[in-house]
Amino acid sequence: MLQIKNLHASVEDKAILKGINLEVKAGEVHAIMGPNGAGKSTLSSIIAGNENYEVSEGEIFLDDEEISELAPEERAHKGIFLSFQYPVEIPGVSVTNFIKTAINESRKAKGLEDMPANEMLKKIREKSELLEMDKKFLSRSLNEGFSGGEKKRNEIFQMAMLEPKVAILDETDSGLDIDALRIVANGVNKLKSKDNAVVVITHYQRLLEYIVPDFVHVLMDGKIVKSGDASLALELEERGYDWIKAELV
Ligand code: ADP
Ligand code: MG
Ligand code: MG
Repeated sequence: MLQIKNLHASVEDKAILKGINLEVKAGEVHAIMGPNGAGKSTLSSIIAGNENYEVSEGEIFLDDEEISELAPEERAHKGIFLSFQYPVEIPGVSVTNFIKTAINESRKAKGLEDMPANEMLKKIREKSELLEMDKKFLSRSLNEGFSGGEKKRNEIFQMAMLEPKVAILDETDSGLDIDALRIVANGVNKLKSKDNAVVVITHYQRLLEYIVPDFVHVLMDGKIVKSGDASLALELEERGYDWIKAELV
């Protein structure tokens, strides 16, 4: 589904990603872990099409189609979803109106008419109930005064509505409390299926107690230096990252 081949990227002539290879198949959950500054957020931004990075080598494929040259919106329309570590506030635009616009933009890109209003309402109702969201929340201004947990809930709601093929959740450093962790984890667990894939980027193991990954990859200094199953995350929690560094020399 998502395939990354020999990805090298830099910013202001500083190499950040130094040859990333990753294959994510439908139905799988992958976790990417690694110390601060390893390049995790850079990797997720580049998959989503962030143009602030220079990709000097490598390709990204979605369902066998190369997407490396596409604009961020085009990638989103093709089914890449990236949750934002620092979401923007949009005063005056409600959670509901924002998602309606996003859905209709995506349909327009595929040559489809707007989603009929009754169908949209039904979908909003279904997904917000699935995620146990308060109705009042839907009419609030996007991210304005949202708590960390509310921001996460909104991201998961967006993911539920947009039904991406590949969802990338960059949770690093966002200081989620235990409630926010549960919201993210429950949402992801309810939304994952054999037809989509999830990449969870996290600095800590605790999120992975709730979302159990099929594969765990360790990203260090711009490279995936070790891959394993869920037990690798536990080992990292116990032993930190230094032993991996030691193994590499
Ligand atoms: P992680 O998410 O693993 O903590 P990042 O991808 O955020 O790591 O950052 C990797 C490295 O790239 C860091 O050294 C960071 O300072 C640098 N970096 C990332 N984005 C930029 C940028 N826009 N400008 C300059 N340096 C950047
Ligand atoms: Mg960081
Ligand atoms: Mg990060």
